[in-house]
Amino acid sequence: MSNITLTIIKPDAVGNGFSGKIIDHILAAGFKIKAMKMIHMNEREAGGFYDVHRERPFFNDLVAFMTSGPCIPMVLEKDNAVADFRATIGATNPKEAAEGTVRKLYAQSIEANAIHGSDSDENARREASYFFSELEIF
Ligand code: GDP
Repeated sequence: MSNITLTIIKPDAVGNGFSGKIIDHILAAGFKIKAMKMIHMNEREAGGFYDVHRERPFFNDLVAFMTSGPCIPMVLEKDNAVADFRATIGATNPKEAAEGTVRKLYAQSIEANAIHGSDSDENARREASYFFSELEIF
């Protein structure tokens, strides 16, 4: 069972002023914030984070979106963190996201979908290390 996941409050949600509400939502769902910072990624950083999607048709648009403004990566801790957080944020496409999920409440579109959540324990560790040092995470 995993105990950490990596999230990013994406540029659309930061720009729309939803960061505080989303952080409240995450805390109310039982997650503890282990590390957090606000950054503005360049193309190399955003492309590296989404390297797995490099061959997808939406890759360039996704990098342009993720570099369009500041975002807030966070390492979150909770029992069963990865699966519980995916349930907390809802489906990738906000039109398909369940009522009460972060994406249903705050996302604009399948691309500008407010928030990221790791999809496996292995990726959670890799993604946490992408933004934070061991000292900051543990
Ligand atoms: P996630 O794990 O729910 O974030 O979804 P994915 O790993 O499949 O996709 C990564 C991110 O790429 C999503 O969160 C969206 O921001 C973006 N994305 C996914 N599918 C599409 C798509 O069909 N079109 C566009 N423009 N962006 C997409």
